[in-house]
Amino acid sequence: MQIQEYTAAQIQAAVTAAANIADNWAQSSAQTRAELLRELGAVLVANREELVRLADEESSLGTPRLNGELDRTTFQLNGFADHIEAGNAFALTDDDAIAGAPPLGRPHLTRVRVPLGPVAMFSASNFPLAFSVLGGDTASALAAGCPVVIKAHPGHPKLSRRVFELAQTVLAKQGLSEGVIGFVEGASVDVGVALVRHPDIAAVAFTGSYQGGNALWAEANSRPRPIPFYGELGSINPVIALPAALSAQAEELAQALASSIEFGSGQICTSPGVVVLFAGADADRFENALRDALQTKKTHTMLTPGMKRNFEAGVARLTGTPGVQTVLRGESNSDDNAPPRPLLVRTSAENFIADHALREEVFGPACVIVRVKSTDEVVAVLNAVGGSLTVTLWGAENDSADVRRITRCATQIAGRVLFSGVPTGVAVTRSQQHGGPWPASTEPFTTSVGYAAMDRFLRPVALQSAPAWLAERAGRPC
Ligand code: NAP
Repeated sequence: MQIQEYTAAQIQAAVTAAANIADNWAQSSAQTRAELLRELGAVLVANREELVRLADEESSLGTPRLNGELDRTTFQLNGFADHIEAGNAFALTDDDAIAGAPPLGRPHLTRVRVPLGPVAMFSASNFPLAFSVLGGDTASALAAGCPVVIKAHPGHPKLSRRVFELAQTVLAKQGLSEGVIGFVEGASVDVGVALVRHPDIAAVAFTGSYQGGNALWAEANSRPRPIPFYGELGSINPVIALPAALSAQAEELAQALASSIEFGSGQICTSPGVVVLFAGADADRFENALRDALQTKKTHTMLTPGMKRNFEAGVARLTGTPGVQTVLRGESNSDDNAPPRPLLVRTSAENFIADHALREEVFGPACVIVRVKSTDEVVAVLNAVGGSLTVTLWGAENDSADVRRITRCATQIAGRVLFSGVPTGVAVTRSQQHGGPWPASTEPFTTSVGYAAMDRFLRPVALQSAPAWLAERAGRPC
């Protein structure tokens, strides 16, 4: 499918339409926003068959996974509707005036939040529904009261256009301006760069690679007026299996981990790319079971030919690094459509810490086993990773100084710390945190999944001694 390169005039038109409606949308009621979000969810469900077919044609992710993704996308649109109906978009804190001299005396202060304005939203390739046109970033920005201009991902252009078309029918049916949801696409990176540079864009929500996110973040910061850039980037998601877990459940955990590594052919931001094991007989048992389980996994064609080539380059890099032993490597196939073969390698903590290349995300079913000898080494390995969407810690049930130390380190480097299960699969809830210190995210205080994602697009303002008419709006922008 030919990707259309949007011209400067087309980008200008999309952003201007968003800017023209921004005040109006910021003033809209929770009910208006909730009705839009629910109807956007409903239109996805009503067109499920066509959308899943298009998504499968363009992504090869398979209909079971894509049906599940459509359900998740609808679930989060509905969830944001509930969230704002519960009053969260207009939540405020209020301090009465106290007569007298400061610091005890004070004016009446109300802390409210105002929508930032038009948001440029960059879709990711690997979730063609849930992190794309009507995905979490769009849902949370609309819920906050911000119009959105979507930069479609070139990996699924037909699907993106169709979902956008359906969104426009919903806007028309509800009597809302088409500028509430805008759309651009491009064959080159120039379209995205022009969007980020546009003076009327007030924030950027990006889900994608470290390289792309870094380049666009720099663009956002080099504008005459820099803007917030919420970049959710790649991650290697360490899994630490403490001896207590391995002695009891080595085979079972290995099976679960193999499924997680293989899920989506490994093209998942929370895919486990590193496993930390204390050297010993249980670690050997676990490693053998993981190898055997991975060997039987059937992966599918990768999202794009470029991703397959990048995966093969990552495999060559890992297997060619001195001090790295190959545990499992299927025959590589230069055919871009051939499914990737899972890769499992092993190295020592010293090597992993010394060589930055071993800590780079290999997007696909690849995993590095790091053998450690002590808690000090676990901590050093985690600190070398530096920032991750997740850390998984198995075997932490019993409190001890070592377990606390590893837990503390895990919470310092990750947005989400799991004590059971596998990192793939991110629940959409109020308590979810999908982000993490750099390089997992450019804004570690925020999340791109869950209802707190809306807060990214609302800026706090303190109203001091506000007149009655403004106070009566109870946090709804004027
Ligand atoms: P990508 O190649 O970075 O593409 C994302 C978007 O950014 C596309 O629209 C792309 O447009 C644009 N882009 C990339 N480089 C650019 C540049 N230099 N200048 C301007 N625009 C640029 O990423 P992807 O292929 O969609 O996804 C794979 C990556 O996303 C993986 O690393 C994965 O871990 C990460 N991911 C993270 C999360 C998360 O929540 N943290 C979720 C899903 C995926 P063009 O293709 O037109 O350049």
